[in-house]
Amino acid sequence: SDGQWEVDPLELTLGEEVGSGQFGLVLQGQWRGHRVAVKMVREGAMSEEDFKEEARVMTMLSHCKLVQLYGVCTQQSPMCLLFEFMEKGCLLDYIKAQKGHLSQDTLLGMCLDVSEAMAYLESNNFIHRDLAARNCLVSKNNEVKVSDFGMTRFVLDDQYTSSQGSKFPFKWSSPEVIKYSKFSSKSDVWSFGVFMWEVYTEGRLPYENQTNSEVVDSLNAGLRLLKPRLAPEAVYILMEWCWKEKPEQRPSFTLLLHELNAF
Ligand code: ADP
Repeated sequence: SDGQWEVDPLELTLGEEVGSGQFGLVLQGQWRGHRVAVKMVREGAMSEEDFKEEARVMTMLSHCKLVQLYGVCTQQSPMCLLFEFMEKGCLLDYIKAQKGHLSQDTLLGMCLDVSEAMAYLESNNFIHRDLAARNCLVSKNNEVKVSDFGMTRFVLDDQYTSSQGSKFPFKWSSPEVIKYSKFSSKSDVWSFGVFMWEVYTEGRLPYENQTNSEVVDSLNAGLRLLKPRLAPEAVYILMEWCWKEKPEQRPSFTLLLHELNAF
């Protein structure tokens, strides 16, 4: 099962901790001249066999606006995943820290970067399943890149993966995902609408004072997130388009990228 995506642990140098997430600690590292982020998978946190099958596909996905998966170290337990290192960390934290100082060009640029990555995933028939500002990272040149694509499929914590669970990303999920777990590029498009809303509110929590069941009720009643003060009308029209009840009524990422590019 060894492939090009298998990393020899002897070639990897581990450095200091940069964060922690669903799968465990994230360390800084060095591998074949690349600075890398190493996700150390905590025992019991990941469905490792399933992930190994998919790792080949994921390492082959390559786009400048996607956080590259370089390879995996499966020979040791727990296994670890090597990603492109993103100097400025999580986008959500970055936006909140810069609140009040982000220009219109910067906000639009963040949406453009992410729509490029998502159009690439869409054209490869790859569904992200958890697109949100917390799952995007910022490079040293302030580019925004999409991370954690497809990874929720390998999370073993059912509080996170079941739509009934307490950690399920309800407020980013389309109605058909909440009701039938029907994921598609069009459910990613719904999440992208919420992502744009996060960007233009400078990192606010969507439906802030509503519980999950209240959110479902208001969506069913046809209500949607309101236009952020900083969002131009044309951008809000795109958000609303992403939040059409029926998946087939939503735009594709190819179209969204085209529309955003025209602004
Ligand atoms: P998980 O997928 O296990 O939930 P996250 O992707 O949320 O983990 O990562 C946790 C934290 O680690 C992030 O908020 C970020 O600060 C840091 N991190 C993750 N990936 C990278 C990366 N590629 N480059 C730099 N820092 C990263």
